[in-house]
Amino acid sequence: MKLPAYVRNCIALLESAGYPAYVVGGCVRDARLGLEPKDYDLCTAASPEEMERLFSQYPLVLCGKAHGTVGVVVEGDVLQITTFRAEGGYRDHRHPDWVRFVPRVEADLARRDFTVNAMAFSPTRGLIDPFGGRQDLERRILRAVGDPEQRFQEDPLRILRGVRFAAVYRLEPETASWAAMVRQAPLMDGLARERVFAELCGLLPWMEWGDLLRFQPILTAVIPELAPMVGFDQRSPYHAYDLYTHTAHVVASVPRDLPLRWAALLHDLGKVGCFTLDESGRGHFYGHASLGAEQAVQVLTRLKAPAALRRQVEILIRQHMTPLEADKTFLRRRLSRLGWDTLWNLTWLQEADTGSKGSAWDKTFFPRLRQLLQELRREQPCLRVTDLAVNGRDLMALGYQGKALGQCLNHLLEQVLSEALPNEKPALLAAAAARFQKGADLA
Ligand code: ATP
Ligand code: MG
Repeated sequence: MKLPAYVRNCIALLESAGYPAYVVGGCVRDARLGLEPKDYDLCTAASPEEMERLFSQYPLVLCGKAHGTVGVVVEGDVLQITTFRAEGGYRDHRHPDWVRFVPRVEADLARRDFTVNAMAFSPTRGLIDPFGGRQDLERRILRAVGDPEQRFQEDPLRILRGVRFAAVYRLEPETASWAAMVRQAPLMDGLARERVFAELCGLLPWMEWGDLLRFQPILTAVIPELAPMVGFDQRSPYHAYDLYTHTAHVVASVPRDLPLRWAALLHDLGKVGCFTLDESGRGHFYGHASLGAEQAVQVLTRLKAPAALRRQVEILIRQHMTPLEADKTFLRRRLSRLGWDTLWNLTWLQEADTGSKGSAWDKTFFPRLRQLLQELRREQPCLRVTDLAVNGRDLMALGYQGKALGQCLNHLLEQVLSEALPNEKPALLAAAAARFQKGADLA
């Protein structure tokens, strides 16, 4: 494993003082997979006080010192170095009852969640891999370190982390680990909602449709609203899949953008509550877009998602059934209401939704829409009152004031959006003056 010079130097400094030191965890896993590690975490036999002394030449971050972690600022980055430690008991399913510094790296690796995350490496001592993480990684196996039931009971967040590692690195959970993940899944109810949300955000962009199916018991444990969708027969000639399988395809078909992936996951939540059967035995879902938007907001509020994400997801779901037209005038009106980002994302959501029904559809339509949107973007069209070639002061000069002024500006925008008027000052002033004469805005 090749390490950057600053990491090697830090290890060498610790080793020269007699303390074994290693890179550990995610960076070893990523390097073995041939991926560029995001960051390097170090572990060592040195205590935090000894590290402070050894690295006294460097700026240090000491907020994690009580847990054994010292941050060394090198190359503009903070290198986290943690004293080997063992943990015991987890009565609150969140924090260890005790943490003890230990002299050997193997004891430190034993407290880690999965074998693929429980490897350490040093340039002088090589790979330390007491749990077979290297082989599991080569065979693409996700396996808990030690007794899986106990490890997920200790910290149920490991269940979601496991799903994330499996999806990101294309790993298959080993039988006993998977059984324990499913059995202990109800314990995730006790986790801080923000942590669950953060894991889901790390996971969603990586999900293939098969991941939503294989990890369904875990996903429905943290988002119970998805459970009624599993196996739900839509009784529709347009839908070849049950509601959950359809959703899985939609999630995997939209780009890896967070609001889009969340919207895709939750877009049909309302269908279960809106389901009706007509006399011919066909299913209908009138109003499911609005109901689904409300339910999605409830889910995201419970998960403490940021308000901005909640709003984006809500509007995408609310609009996901509204037909779009490949026509610039139509798109300008929609842009004026929704803005660029929302309308752009809506084309992806609708395309994925249409393409995930398992029936034939026109594959050229949505790319054509996006082409038109790109052309419109270059044209910088007038979309809002503030884009008009006249402003409030111009209208005041004609005699407008108060509410009538706002009404007239909105009217002019309507005229420009529908191309009844060009966005040019003389034409807009003439129209405004004519309306003023008629008293159209004073009613
Ligand atoms: P990534 O940073 O890509 O999410 P990572 O493996 O580096 O993956 P971190 O959360 O940065 O994950 O944690 C670093 C290491 O600490 C992990 O590789 C693992 O060994 C250990 N670890 C982290 N969280 C837990 C946990 N909840 N239970 C047990 N070990 C953990
Ligand atoms: Mg990491």
